Amino acid sequence: MAFELPNLPYAHNALEPHIDARTMEIHHGKHHAGYTSKLNAAVEGTDMEGKSIEDLLANNTDNKAIRNNGGGFYNHRLFWEIMSPNGGGTPSGELGQAIDDSFGSFENFKKKFSDAAATQFGSGWAWLCVHPGGKLEVCSTPNQDNPLMPGAGCEGQPILGIDVWEHAYYLNYQNRRPDYISAFWNVINWDEVASRYAKNK
Ligand code: MN
Repeated sequence: MAFELPNLPYAHNALEPHIDARTMEIHHGKHHAGYTSKLNAAVEGTDMEGKSIEDLLANNTDNKAIRNNGGGFYNHRLFWEIMSPNGGGTPSGELGQAIDDSFGSFENFKKKFSDAAATQFGSGWAWLCVHPGGKLEVCSTPNQDNPLMPGAGCEGQPILGIDVWEHAYYLNYQNRRPDYISAFWNVINWDEVASRYAKNK
């Protein structure tokens, strides 16, 4: 059973002005679609066929095609889901409490996550991960690596991530990655992040 490019959960222009429609069209329709088809090509006819994406990422980091395209498939699927046109604000409930407990305050967390995204050299991602027991950690990874890959970043389950490849922001923000990172806070779907926290804590 092949992996399928998921539909965006909103229109291409829904995240404007923070992320523009043309960037979303290319990012989803070309980049994510490309990772998905190359992932399928890499597993087809091998003993990896039929395995879950989580299983593939946890056990095949020495396979470059799986690492890059499987990572790209997984990371972008998460990325679309943790954004929303009705996003932004701050998380409440147990996720809000866990952020306070792990980082001292939401503002401290915001700074740490933004710094991780801004200082990831070249292409990559910044993550918020939850460890068993509920503690949260921020890290960044290069390329399409993610925390499901052993030794790639923070251990744990990623519940929030930001794509800092230039293809994620260059059309609208050019070299101004910090402006894109700052705009991202306006579209974070905290309900979705909280749901991922609850499932993985
Ligand atoms: Mn991307």
